[in-house]
Amino acid sequence: MNVLYLNGPVQNGPFTIAERPGKAAGIRAADALNTLLEAGPVPHLWNTATLAGDLRHRDAPDRDTVGRQEREERAIAAKYVPGAAPAGGVLTDTAPVVAALALEMTERLLQDGVLTLTPVAVRLCTRCGHMTGTVPRACRACGHPGSQPHARRLLVWDRPSGTPVLAREDVHAHRAKPPGHLLTIAQNVPERLILSRTREHGISLAPLGLDDLVMDPRVGVHIAVLAAAAQHGAGRPVMTLTDNAAANVAAYGAPFRQHNGVRLRYALHGRIPYDDTAGLQRLCEVHRVNPPLRERFLAWFLPLCSLHIRAGITPAQLPALLKFWRRAHLARPDTPGSDVLAELRHRVTVGDMRWVMDVQTLSQAIPEYPVTHGSAQKPEGAS
Ligand SMILES: [Zn+2]
Repeated sequence: MNVLYLNGPVQNGPFTIAERPGKAAGIRAADALNTLLEAGPVPHLWNTATLAGDLRHRDAPDRDTVGRQEREERAIAAKYVPGAAPAGGVLTDTAPVVAALALEMTERLLQDGVLTLTPVAVRLCTRCGHMTGTVPRACRACGHPGSQPHARRLLVWDRPSGTPVLAREDVHAHRAKPPGHLLTIAQNVPERLILSRTREHGISLAPLGLDDLVMDPRVGVHIAVLAAAAQHGAGRPVMTLTDNAAANVAAYGAPFRQHNGVRLRYALHGRIPYDDTAGLQRLCEVHRVNPPLRERFLAWFLPLCSLHIRAGITPAQLPALLKFWRRAHLARPDTPGSDVLAELRHRVTVGDMRWVMDVQTLSQAIPEYPVTHGSAQKPEGAS
């Protein structure tokens, strides 16, 4: 059963990867690891079933001529610089293949009694009809403060008491400390989770009789990963995401992380201090790191590092990391040793990321022409 890394779908907000490289950290880490496993390219996954996307579409001056799906696709294409579209394509969390898998999984979970279609007392916005939740609060779709009670059937997961929504085994990490604070957050999830929502865009639950409702996107992001894995025949998909993202989505994904013998695990990564570009520029000059090497440091090494330094890389760590990177680059062999590469692949397979801090192993892992997403350039005079 082969391991395949896939990024936790990124919210398709109004930014480009060049502007917000941190958003692509999971994408870049997954690409780098799959390259080492010779298992790629995989699609980049994007989360389009967002309330913010509903609002952007509602307010767009061209909303009569540009449909929501097309707007999302255009926004994704604009994330990448021209000519640097991902080799494995893109997949959204509402793509037909994802929606079909979502319905298949949901129907089976309903048959098994894990999920139910249950009448629930909720609140609807009195202005726009958005389902605001189970307690009165201002509408997040239109801002209106008023809501009225309403009972309707929803897709519900009533978790048996004491069932964890996240266990140590759900995290793809070898001998790493279990993410204690995440496990704690997971313990505090309500026992009833509502998996259907009012959204203008998403995986429609109308085939289950839930007209006008879509699958909660926190479920959908997991199913997008499973759908991409199925397309690649991968039995052990690993989803890259931050601790914060995992805290937000893990509970909703809990009933949806296993399907037909395939089990999804999380690879957690920390934040990367990409904002301090001026400081980095100075550092590169001091350490005579040329632009291609700098680009590889930013787009290849730091994303891999972020899987090892899960607490997040601090700006204060960047000088040492840059010096280390330069050393590893200077130590690159003409031809990587096959035994080292085999050991490296084994470590990547089991989620052991300590090798990124081992200069010899790292030197053998550096690709000739790394995928840089948005700023691809050949190395010039790289030693
Ligand atoms: Zn409203």
